[in-house]
Formats: sequence, structure tokens, C-alpha cells
Amino acid sequence: MSRFQDQNLLLSSFEEEVFVECPKCALRASITKEEPTYYSVRKLKCPNCFYSQPGKKESYHVEFSCHCANCVSEIKVDIPSVNEKVETIALKCPGCGQTEDYKPRNIKLEWVYEPNGRPADKYFNLPLWLTENVKGEVLWAINYKHLDYLKQYIQADLRERNGRLGWTMVEKLPEWMKSAKNRESVIKAIEKLEKK
Ligand SMILES: [Zn+2]
Ligand SMILES: [Zn+2]
Repeated sequence: MSRFQDQNLLLSSFEEEVFVECPKCALRASITKEEPTYYSVRKLKCPNCFYSQPGKKESYHVEFSCHCANCVSEIKVDIPSVNEKVETIALKCPGCGQTEDYKPRNIKLEWVYEPNGRPADKYFNLPLWLTENVKGEVLWAINYKHLDYLKQYIQADLRERNGRLGWTMVEKLPEWMKSAKNRESVIKAIEKLEKK
């Protein structure tokens, strides 16, 4: 009889490395933290195509408006998204036609990926690498350590709580994963992912 005692780990306990699908080559890439804190900037790296991305992609919303010093017409610009900050911009007055350099406002936007409904990492929003369908549900793990911990829990005949906490990673698992009738299918999916 196998026994599992909750080590009171949270999902964030496994976050030092997260495996995702590379946005360039669709093979396995990894996300690591720059510092060991929860709010740390993450770095994406693909060992296959060598793509790397330090932190979220940034773009700028550029806007500016004023009245022409010459003829008092309104001068306006609004660019929803550019990759680089715009320090100065030459604008032509619609009233008198005079062109002047202006300093617009740059509003920083942080850009994340679109995982199309698939389970994704919380930082870049890239689809997780370790996902598998189980009876219409999706089993996912952020890395192999997390997968192994899930396996130990699912396989156990006896699942012991370690204190009455209610907030650990395994306690938050959905019912279909905890249910004895799905155990075999869940284990099969985990074993498939172990080889991925
Ligand atoms: Zn790649
Ligand atoms: Zn003018």
C-alpha cells in the first residue's frame, strides 16, 4: 500500500523552471527566474532554435496633442503600438503647415502570448509543454518535478494531509484527478508525459 504525505508544496514551489512550447519552433523551451522571488522577471530560452526572450515584450502607446504656436490649430498624434520609445516626433500643423519636433507621451504596454485556450504559464502566457488529455479534461504540469509529485499523489492509496491547510497544490487539484475511477487514465497520461 502506497502512502502520500502532503509536503505542503504550492504550485509556486515548483516554479524555478517551467517548460513551455517555444513560440518560434514549437519544441520544448524553458522559463527560468532571474531572481528567486515570486515577482521576478522571467527568461524564456529554447535549446532547440536558440530563441531567447528576457522578460515580457514591451511596446509603447504614443500620444501627443497641443495647439500650434503659430496658428493655434490642434496638433494631435495617437499611435496604438510601436516597439521602440518615440522621444521626438516631427508633426505638421494641419492649419498652417508648419512642421515642428514635439516630445510625445510614451505609455508602456506589456505584451503576452495568446495560448488559444490551452493551459499556459502565468508570465509569458505560453502553452505548457507537459499537457495531456484525460477523458475530456486536461492534465498539465509545469515541469518534471511537478509531474513526479503529482504521480506520487495520484498513485497513493492513502493520501495524508499534513495539518489542516486547504491551500496546498494537491489539495487544489480538481475532483476528476483525485477520483479513484480516473486513477488509471491519469497515471497513463503522466507516464506518457514523462517521456515527452
Ligand atoms: Zn525554439
Ligand atoms: Zn499651425
